Amino acid sequence: MEKKRVVIIVGACVSGLTVCKDLLELDGRPTLFEADTVLGTELQTPRPMYQYSDFPWPESVTV
Ligand SMILES: Cc1cc2nc3c(=O)[nH]c(=O)nc-3n(C[C@H](O)[C@H](O)[C@H](O)COP(=O)(O)OP(=O)(O)OC[C@H]3O[C@@H](n4cnc5c(N)ncnc54)[C@H](O)[C@@H]3O)c2cc1C
Repeated sequence: MEKKRVVIIVGACVSGLTVCKDLLELDGRPTLFEADTVLGTELQTPRPMYQYSDFPWPESVTV
């Protein structure tokens, strides 16, 4: 019988998005709630220092 696991993540900034990415890579199906109208964070540090090595920012991000 299939085990059903519900994972709810509250907050879609760096921590929440990282957990979501990891769960998706494990074939999980997390549900992410974000109170703000945008996901993630504004970059304050240079782009190469604040990105996943396997999921880089798009070239349009110029920080
Ligand atoms: C002024 C300032 C400058 C900074 N500069 C840098 C920097 O240069 N480089 C760097 O690496 N870090 C910097 N940081 C730190 C960085 O912003 C944090 O470490 C990072 O944002 C933490 O991410 P987080 O996902 O843990 O939490 P948060 O960024 O706090 O994200 C929490 C998320 O949860 C959401 N949320 C909260 N309550 C609810 C709810 N009830 N339901 C749904 N969603 C909810 C919020 O809207 C938010 O999107 C800075 C922080 C500050 C304040």
